[in-house]
Amino acid sequence: MDKTQLEQRIVARGREFFQSISGEAPSIFNKGWWTGKVMDWSMKNEDFKVRLFRFVDVLPALSTTESLTRHIEEYFASDSGDLPPVMKAGLTTAGLAGKLGGKLMAKAISANIEKMGRQFIVGQDAREAVKNIQRLRKDGFAFTIDLLGEATVSEAESEARMQEHLDLMDAVAEAKDKFKPLGDGGSGLDWGGEPVVNLSVKPSAFYSQTKARDFEGSVQGLYNRLAPVYRKVVQMGGAMCIDMESLDYKDITIELFKRLRGADEFRHYPHLGIVFQAYLKCTDQDVAEMLTWARTQNLPITIRLVKGAYWDHETVRAKQMGWEVPVYTIKAESDAAFERVSRHVLENADICRLCCASHNVRTIAAVMETAQALNVPESRYEFQVLYGMAEPVRKGLRKVAGRVRLYCPYGDLIPGMAYLVRRLLENTANESFLRQSFADEADMARLLEDPAAAAERERAARPVGREAAPAPGPFENHPMIDFTLPEAREAFPQALARVRAHGLREVPLFIGGAPVYTNDVLDSYNPADTGEVLARVHQAGTAEIDRALEAAVAVRGSWRATPPAERAEYLLRAAAHMRANIHDLCAVQVLEVGKQWDQAHADLAEAVDFLEYYAREMLRLGAPRRMGRAPGEVNLYQYRPKGIAAVIAPWNFPLAISTGMVGAAIVTGNPVLYKPSGLSSLVGHGLVEAFSAAGLPAGVFNFVPGRSSVMGDYLVGHKDISLIAFTGSLEVGLRIMAKAAVPAPGQLQCKKVIAEMGGKNAIIIDDDAELDEAVQQTVYSAFGFQGQKCSACSRVIVLDAVYDRFVPRLVEACRSLRLGPAENPANVMGPVVDRAAQKSIMAYVELARKEGRVLVERMPGGQDCAAGCYVPLTVVEGITPEHRIAQEEIFGPVLAVMRAADFDQALEYANSTRFALTGAVFSRSPRHLERARAEFNVGNLYLNRGSTGALVERQPFGGFNMSGIGSKTGGPDYLLQFMDPYVVTENTMRRGFAPIEEDDDWV
Ligand SMILES: Cc1cc2nc3c(=O)[nH]c(=O)nc-3n(C[C@H](O)[C@H](O)[C@H](O)COP(=O)(O)OP(=O)(O)OC[C@H]3O[C@@H](n4cnc5c(N)ncnc54)[C@H](O)[C@@H]3O)c2cc1C
Repeated sequence: MDKTQLEQRIVARGREFFQSISGEAPSIFNKGWWTGKVMDWSMKNEDFKVRLFRFVDVLPALSTTESLTRHIEEYFASDSGDLPPVMKAGLTTAGLAGKLGGKLMAKAISANIEKMGRQFIVGQDAREAVKNIQRLRKDGFAFTIDLLGEATVSEAESEARMQEHLDLMDAVAEAKDKFKPLGDGGSGLDWGGEPVVNLSVKPSAFYSQTKARDFEGSVQGLYNRLAPVYRKVVQMGGAMCIDMESLDYKDITIELFKRLRGADEFRHYPHLGIVFQAYLKCTDQDVAEMLTWARTQNLPITIRLVKGAYWDHETVRAKQMGWEVPVYTIKAESDAAFERVSRHVLENADICRLCCASHNVRTIAAVMETAQALNVPESRYEFQVLYGMAEPVRKGLRKVAGRVRLYCPYGDLIPGMAYLVRRLLENTANESFLRQSFADEADMARLLEDPAAAAERERAARPVGREAAPAPGPFENHPMIDFTLPEAREAFPQALARVRAHGLREVPLFIGGAPVYTNDVLDSYNPADTGEVLARVHQAGTAEIDRALEAAVAVRGSWRATPPAERAEYLLRAAAHMRANIHDLCAVQVLEVGKQWDQAHADLAEAVDFLEYYAREMLRLGAPRRMGRAPGEVNLYQYRPKGIAAVIAPWNFPLAISTGMVGAAIVTGNPVLYKPSGLSSLVGHGLVEAFSAAGLPAGVFNFVPGRSSVMGDYLVGHKDISLIAFTGSLEVGLRIMAKAAVPAPGQLQCKKVIAEMGGKNAIIIDDDAELDEAVQQTVYSAFGFQGQKCSACSRVIVLDAVYDRFVPRLVEACRSLRLGPAENPANVMGPVVDRAAQKSIMAYVELARKEGRVLVERMPGGQDCAAGCYVPLTVVEGITPEHRIAQEEIFGPVLAVMRAADFDQALEYANSTRFALTGAVFSRSPRHLERARAEFNVGNLYLNRGSTGALVERQPFGGFNMSGIGSKTGGPDYLLQFMDPYVVTENTMRRGFAPIEEDDDWV
């Protein structure tokens, strides 16, 4: 059959299908019911839809009538102008805020939403589920059961999840005899060949420590818990399908499937399936590889093909991370991919059975007709739809194809809310086939159109690329590393090996464009094993500082005269060098300061961003700005460099912060003396390489590592230093300010100090917070890079109402983390930076024991901790603002848990320190978020996300009070601090004649 004939048959089949179900609508669109009315309104009003879906999301967390009423008021009553009449009437007549009528109305709304949720759920307990499944089977539908709930935050939860699946299988096994096989029922199987019991599993729930960068560990962790479940399924003669979640898990899931399918104990058993998502651009290739694998292994498999349920998530995440969007962006492209991939599977029907999971009549018709055209036996494919959706489609399908399976989620509504929100989004999306067919009644011919042709037409109609902006183009953040890519995962061990192959590195100073060796040398070692010395770093004394200053003074004039655009060029070239050597530079950080792979990469990306951003900022600020428009005079506002900068950098963001401060000083025209931390001088030396590769003139950048006790005060107090850019502790910052305030003999200008200092950052967990997210993000913010970030969370303030739900989960999550050297990608927390830090943090652990109740105190196990600078991951509760643990910056993995009576007290606690750097709030109360915006005193406030990870330009970073006295790094004001503004006014009138300027304000 040729393509045209096939196409005609697909359309004819689709028409027939539509006719057979005409006049019917899925219950979610039934306007006779509350749900249908509200859905209808939400499809016409985007703002209401957002509020409604957010409210649906928070609803299960609202455990008291007071909280329910308050949230309904916050979400809906503030502006009832655009509410659906069915809600508006109730809200306005009852009045809200504590009145009896309001409470009743709130209950009614929540009851309706619960009802809506239940519509997609086959049962909240096993009895209900089995009863409903029996009913469905009587109507002729097969089932696959899925236990609601997704990501787990701890191993205890993953273990419980496995047990729930085993229990579910026991419950189903008990009921199994009641299920009569469908179809001809041969050999006790549905339709003569398919197991009656079918389980769908979401793999991510089975191992809480799954992460893309630890591929092997993740596959193994998942396998260990999924195998017992599958064993049980096999024992009872059932089938299992592994669902596909977000892209992060895709390759891990595929490998997990292969290992289960190919395991000796399971090879004989053919009923294992996996899901592929047609919306992913890589699915053609993934499916082709899977089919080849099945053939070479001679293992029959099942593929369930879906379009994919995480489209918004994948696009938003890719955009935020700077990655190529992995999904198609034209809906018809996903539809066309589904038809293409399903054909490929049907062509291999002898080895692979196809489950077509779609509610789209065109898609279904295409699969039916293609299967017939290819003479695929009916037993080799079936159709699947979601329970509670597209009832007319499933009815029509049962009539035409017979073999229809319903995907039946089962369990509590609370873990089910993410699922419900996905279904609501799916039903109400503009692009949704169901919405277009049953709510919008789109033209049938368009709904049945060949998606390949539609996609082509849409592609052609899209505007061609925007005109390229003049170089260097708009700023874009360097992409985050994508560890789902094998090449990204492989790059790290390779780079680590390369760095080690260098052996012990001799690191000289770099002054006036030449290396300088001294007699004072400091070893730099690996904090995970202090016996591994990485570098011998030559130390500057006061004589070398003098020499470096001479070099800087010599070049000061010419560098100042270098046009801003040329100075910016050097930064861009240095950025290019860093990008080209990114993995080796990351590896040095992993070894020298103990950064985990992702943390090291984030530091490098930020370093590149600083260079790229400040280069562009200088182009903006470098152009003189005319002030006023009066004819006959020109006033030009412009900036000149301050002079010579001393940059004193910390070890915790060893390249990023150094590059930011150095890059800013250089691009604004100030030669630099750069003193890296003694703990990260090998990393710091990366700047010598980058600026040398950029061809920066000798003397503009001078690398002067040295002992603070020997040359610190001398450098800061020197008469030729005009500006000090410092990032580090409060204690050192205050000392620098004091020193800089006293003029040295011969000093010609007041010194400018830019100081970024400490933090005692808090995360507030409100009583309606999304706890999965809140736990994960708190753990990451507190213990990522061992808590050694000025932005790290060191206090988590938990509202009383949610304390007993949040804290035990936090504790279990902390107990589940893998600890050990940062070079192992499985480890989330490693050693602290040196013995001194270790000692200081241990003193705080001791203090924590005295001031509160220690909930977690974990050291890495199974290895020689004595060789590294390890401290225990510590969580302590019972802390109030008076405690030292709540006030002092620890710079280590010690997290204080504070219990607050209500949101007022939480804010009061949060603001109770002298620092004001970062803070975060997890809340789904619009009013509380608003209050946090206004009252949480920090330089960087994060709502519903963790407190670390600021990005250049997007989240300019820095605090106030005792946290700093500079304007924000990576922001539009930063460079101004490195320059002095001046104005030149010229009278352009000569003997009554004034030249006309383009922007003069003439009469
Ligand atoms: C039995 C069953 C099991 C399922 N299991 C999974 C699973 O394991 N993993 C999973 O992710 N999903 C799963 N789903 C959900 C499934 O992905 C959605 O139900 C499906 O995408 C809806 O497609 P449709 O053909 O029914 O509807 P249609 O309305 O034709 O398609 C909607 C889909 O098109 C895609 N889309 C929307 N907008 C665009 C755009 N602008 N550009 C490109 N593509 C776009 C999205 O995938 C969206 O879901 C399952 C569904 C069923 C029925």
